[in-house]
Amino acid sequence: MDPWTALLHEPPLTPHREVVPPIYQNSLFTFESVEAFEAAIQTGDRHVYTRGTNPTVRLFEEKIAALEGAEDAVAFASGMGAIAAAVLSVLEAGDTLVVATPVYTNAHNFFTHILSRFGVRVVFVPGRDTPAVLEALKGAQALYMESPAFFTLDVLDLEPLVAAAREEGAITLLDATWNAGYALNPHAWGVDLVVHSATKYFSGHADVVAGVVTGPKAHLARIRRREYALLGATLSPMHAWLLLRGLRTLRVRLKAHEEGALKVARFLEAHPKVRRVYHPLLPSHPQHALAKKYLKGASGLFTVELEDEAAARAFCNALELFKIGVSWGGFESLVFPACCTPLLTRAYGISKGAVRLHVGLEPPEALIADLEQALARLG
Ligand code: PLP
Repeated sequence: MDPWTALLHEPPLTPHREVVPPIYQNSLFTFESVEAFEAAIQTGDRHVYTRGTNPTVRLFEEKIAALEGAEDAVAFASGMGAIAAAVLSVLEAGDTLVVATPVYTNAHNFFTHILSRFGVRVVFVPGRDTPAVLEALKGAQALYMESPAFFTLDVLDLEPLVAAAREEGAITLLDATWNAGYALNPHAWGVDLVVHSATKYFSGHADVVAGVVTGPKAHLARIRRREYALLGATLSPMHAWLLLRGLRTLRVRLKAHEEGALKVARFLEAHPKVRRVYHPLLPSHPQHALAKKYLKGASGLFTVELEDEAAARAFCNALELFKIGVSWGGFESLVFPACCTPLLTRAYGISKGAVRLHVGLEPPEALIADLEQALARLG
C-alpha cells in the first residue's frame, strides 16, 4: 500500500475490526512469566513501558516512517524533543556541528545555550552560501539543516551538501516540518536523520504538541534506548491517537494550504504596500531555481516584508481572520511578526517589517479580503 493510502488504513489491532484504532492509554504492559518479561526487555519485541514503545504511538511512527521513505521513526513529545534527541545522538564532546542557517529559533537556542555547554563546537553558516557550508564542514561531525528554512524559506542545495558531509563522515540532519512529508523527501536526497514538529501539519488541528525523527533502523533503535528513554520526551498515546486522526486528512489539507497560500502570496506580491514576498514557489524567490529542483509542492507558510516595524505591527493588529500567534500548520490562519523575536532580526538580519503568514483552511478569497482591508489601513 502506498504511504498516503496507508495514512487512512491499518490492520485492526483488536478482534473487533475497529475502523479507528483504540488508544492504548497504558503506562505499562504486563507479562505471563518472568521469562517472557526478561525476553521483552532484552529484545524490545513486546511493549513494556510507554517511555519506550506503545501500540498507539507505534502506529503513528510506522505511518511517518513510510511517508518519509525511511526505515523507521521515533515519535517525541515535541518537535524540540525530536531535534534535541536526534542531534545529541550524533555528537560528543569535542565534536563540531555545522548549522546551515536560518533554523527554527529554539533549535538555534538549543545549539547555543545547551550543546555548547557540553563541549560541542557549533558553527553557524548561512545555508544559502553553499561554498561556505562546504568549507565549514571540513573536520565536522554533523550538519544540521532546515529546508525550506524558517522565515526566509531559503531552499538548501542538498546534493552537494550531503555529498560533502558523506565524504567527511559527518551525519546530516534536516528539519523538514514545512514539507510535511509531501513537498520534499530529504531521505531520497541522502539525508540521514529527518526531524519534524508534528505539532504542525501532522496534527493539523492546533491541539497537539509532538515531534518525530525518521532514519535508519539501527540508529533509531539507539535513539529509542538512549535519548528517547533517558531524556524522556515521550509522546503520550492520546496525542498519538490525535495525530493518527490528523494524518487521515493530511493529503487534502496540504493541497488546500498549498493552493490557498499561493493565491494569497500572489495577491500580496502585487500589492503596492508589500515590499517583497518570500515564497519558494514564486519566481521572485532567490532560491526559486533550487525550489524547482527539490520541491514537489508547498505548504501554507511564507513571509511578507512590509515597509518597517510600524507597518508590520499595524498590519497584524488590523487583521481579523489571521490571528497573532506562534506555531502554524493547523486549520487556522496566523501571523507572526519578526519584530517579536530579536534572534531573527539580530542573528539572521531579517527585517523588522517582516511578517510570517500561515494560510489556514478558510476560503482564500476571505483571507485575501482580510489582508486587503488591513493593508488599506496602513498609512
Ligand atoms: N521546527 C520548526 C520549523 C518549527 O517551526 C518548530 C516550532 O514552531 C519546531 C521545529 C519545534 O517544534 P515544537 O514546537 O513541536 O517543539
